[in-house]
Amino acid sequence: MVTEEEWEEAQKRQHRLRFLSGVAGMVILGGVSLPAIALGTAITDGGIVRYLVSAGLLIGFVFPSMLGMIFVANKQQADADGKVRQLNHDLSDAIVTADREAAQRKVQARRQQFESRLANALDMAEGEPEVIDVIERSLQAVIPDSPAELLLADNSHAHLLRMASVSSTGEPPACDVDSPDRCPAARRAQVQRFSDSDDLDACPKLRNRAQGRLSATCVPVSIMGRTVGVIHATGAPQEDIADNAVEDLETLAKLAGARIGLLRVMAETQLQAATDSLTGLFNRRTFEEKVSAVRRETDCFSVAMVDLDHFKILNDTYGHETGDRSLVLFAQMLKDSFRLQDLCCRYGGEEFAIAFPSCTAVQARNALDAFRSRLSAAITVAGLPAFTVSAGIVDFKIHETLPNALARADAALYQAKQGGRDQVVVHDGDGDAISEAEIQFEANEVSRTLAAASDVRRQMR
Ligand code: GH3
Ligand code: MG
Ligand code: MG
Repeated sequence: MVTEEEWEEAQKRQHRLRFLSGVAGMVILGGVSLPAIALGTAITDGGIVRYLVSAGLLIGFVFPSMLGMIFVANKQQADADGKVRQLNHDLSDAIVTADREAAQRKVQARRQQFESRLANALDMAEGEPEVIDVIERSLQAVIPDSPAELLLADNSHAHLLRMASVSSTGEPPACDVDSPDRCPAARRAQVQRFSDSDDLDACPKLRNRAQGRLSATCVPVSIMGRTVGVIHATGAPQEDIADNAVEDLETLAKLAGARIGLLRVMAETQLQAATDSLTGLFNRRTFEEKVSAVRRETDCFSVAMVDLDHFKILNDTYGHETGDRSLVLFAQMLKDSFRLQDLCCRYGGEEFAIAFPSCTAVQARNALDAFRSRLSAAITVAGLPAFTVSAGIVDFKIHETLPNALARADAALYQAKQGGRDQVVVHDGDGDAISEAEIQFEANEVSRTLAAASDVRRQMR
């Protein structure tokens, strides 16, 4: 590497040498001409020969000095030329390096722009469906010509589900891997690139595809440090996806995985805050929120208070842990037995509240009676000590508050306990029990209405 100072120094040396050569030439010429003439005169007899000899002597004296100066000048010139060559070489190297760095900066700038736009899009995605939409659009942008899909594990982590797919031909890659453990990319937590599905070391899942021979790139997706899926893209055999695009796919997998992980944690936290930890039923606060939301849509509503009978005795006899298992079974039976729109809540201890939208108290009672029979069978199957439940039910009055309706249902429950437990009591709006005969009459009415409606439907067909 030649520095600018060295180059300037070489040029100065050349200038000095040129000047000194002129001066030295004059001095040497002056210094040796008189001795040459004198010597020429001395060794000849005069005449014209004298001048020839003097000139020969003069040349003989000056020639070595001239040779010496030419040698030094050549050496200096060679030195300067070498420096010029080195400078040229250094310059070419610098241009190549600058070009390479500029290209790298361009690639880096493009990648950073993609990453920041992707991060921004994912940040705005509020639920998993929106994240999936961002993933699909990113796949289209990064590898527009390659069919691609996102396979993600379900909550059990045992099954991979196709969550997103893009393809210009309409045909997704359709990898049939069914669990993260069976996918080499997910198992190794490393990008896998296969140039040809016929290669000896190609992924077995690439063989026998409808598309025939193909190349594939598989990028693992991690959620909170655990590999739970894969982005799978395919192409023609030997036509691997470009390195830049693979890096973008890795960025996509990383950011999308982090976003889905965060959303899942948030959903889990919200669920934990909304539900009771032992039974998974709504807690009181959520129950109140849900009931007021449903009340905005329907006026026909009934609520029940349900309480496990002599639960203290069960706890004392079989232990708290058996008591807990009984509560869990009871809650599971509630979830399994009632409609999706019915709202079940652990109101406290072994006491539960249930809201039945679009359902009268009498209809709710029939549902609860059926539930009690199923519960009894389930307790036997689970090998738990037998227990029964009592319940009180009321119709929600228009403009009535939830605490008021629950207090009336609690009064009905109290009456069920007083009446010997293991029963359901329905109170009317005045707090009086609705008799069994009235309940049966209403049940028959409902059956008759349903039968009539069924007849009408049959006749219309
Ligand atoms: P009753 O038929 O009058 O309702 O009698 P009971 O024994 O069920 O009612 P009581 O109010 O006297 O006792 C309720 C018992 O429920 C006492 C308490 O230890 C038990 N309990 C409340 N919460 C839990 C729980 O989370 N786990 C267990 N194992 N027991 C609980
Ligand atoms: Mg009880
Ligand atoms: Mg109780």
